[in-house]
Amino acid sequence: MGSGHDVVVVGAGLAGLQAAISLREAGVDVLVLEAAERVGGRIRSLEGVNGVEEAGAVNIGDGYARLISHVKAAGLEREPVAYSMREHAVVVDGHVGTALDWAGNPGNPLSGEERAVPPALLVAGALAKNNPLGGPRDWMAPEAERWDVPLTDYLHSVGLSGEAVALADRAGTFETLGGTSALAMLRAVQRASRHSPQTSNIVGGNARLPESMAARLGGSVRVRSAVTAVRESGDLMVVELADGEQITAGHVIVAVPFSVLRAWSALPALPGVVSRLIDELPYPALTKYHLVARRPFWEEDGLPHAMWTTSRIQRLLPWRLAADGPSALAVWVTGREARVLDGLDEREQRDIVLGELGRVRPAAVGAVEITRIVSWGREPWAGGAWAMPLPGQMAALAAAVEADTGRVQFAGEHLSVEDSGMEGALESGERAAGRVLARLGSG
Ligand SMILES: Cc1cc2nc3c(=O)[nH]c(=O)nc-3n(C[C@H](O)[C@H](O)[C@H](O)COP(=O)(O)OP(=O)(O)OC[C@H]3O[C@@H](n4cnc5c(N)ncnc54)[C@H](O)[C@@H]3O)c2cc1C
Repeated sequence: MGSGHDVVVVGAGLAGLQAAISLREAGVDVLVLEAAERVGGRIRSLEGVNGVEEAGAVNIGDGYARLISHVKAAGLEREPVAYSMREHAVVVDGHVGTALDWAGNPGNPLSGEERAVPPALLVAGALAKNNPLGGPRDWMAPEAERWDVPLTDYLHSVGLSGEAVALADRAGTFETLGGTSALAMLRAVQRASRHSPQTSNIVGGNARLPESMAARLGGSVRVRSAVTAVRESGDLMVVELADGEQITAGHVIVAVPFSVLRAWSALPALPGVVSRLIDELPYPALTKYHLVARRPFWEEDGLPHAMWTTSRIQRLLPWRLAADGPSALAVWVTGREARVLDGLDEREQRDIVLGELGRVRPAAVGAVEITRIVSWGREPWAGGAWAMPLPGQMAALAAAVEADTGRVQFAGEHLSVEDSGMEGALESGERAAGRVLARLGSG
């Protein structure tokens, strides 16, 4: 059995790295075990055709206080993210237009005031209007349960028409609107409202941040070390690795998505709310097709580069637009359609994505090629893009965040309270470390 540590942290994403740094700063002996051959998890920067492209997390909100303080401490720089959905092309059942002329688009099935709202903005706009959540912790209050209903029901209750809901359901960051908790999305909109729309990313790639955090931990981060079980043995925890190695620790922080925990062979006994969420919390599939545009096809058709469509390719977002020379973009496919594409071989996926892109945007024919396919649904150490609670799961999530799970604590974006994404992951890591420190102090 491997030599013992005060604490073993499983997962070197932002949550696990933050937990380990907080513990190390308090003088605790900590070992981080990471399954992949790199740190960073759902932050993944790729070397693109003419610079870095983000396959995972892109946008750093200006209120991401923990993250920005790590960026400064590491001597890294941030730069503004180039794209936004403020201007975008809209393609509905073959009818092509822009967000600005959407009201006059013959494919627009809506009437009245709704007709002027581009489909990509229908849900966020309806949720932002009179959001019942005023503060970042309001989602955890018992009164909030009344909004923990299918998002479709909530949208109808605030006056969105059936046609508008059906249209918005065709592409977005969710699996389906009906299968998503309205409270989860109200929480997301409340969180986003605390940051300005202008986001940033790290010069040289967002992955430089987790790398710099791992460097602070020196030799205490082990990559290629997949954990398959955590068991209790007397006063100790035993962490089992895929190659059969066993490492003992006084405490364990499990900072991996619940989706990947489903494959573990053992965890100590947990409160019912936690084990149910481990089994059931959904993580939508999301597959990104990174593209290089050899010529600026958007200048030929006069449409914005960003695009929201009802076609199989759903959304196109630019990453870097060069005045001359190649530009980088990515097609983002989420949910059921992503799972269908994930099931095909790479050649079929390329044919479908390029075929659909050419169909909805003929100027792109012959102008783009796919440089990389990144499937978060098929990524074994992620099991999907992010936690997206079902209707009725939010009270359990609040209880799971509060639950004291003893010598095994959990962290990760799925257990964030006040912020989402990368900042939420850091917040959860800090909380898990604080709980372990409290136990070590009282032990
Ligand atoms: C496409 C995409 C776009 C995004 N865009 C944004 C954005 O713009 N802004 C934003 O703030 N957030 C964004 N996010 C979300 C953000 O990436 C995550 O919220 C955050 O990085 C999660 O950190 P984490 O530490 O909780 O989990 P992860 O980053 O998933 O870290 C978990 C780690 O655990 C490891 N692991 C898993 N299983 C095991 C095991 N058995 N043994 C050992 N190690 C294991 C994994 O390899 C991984 O390194 C995006 C995510 C995706 C996928």
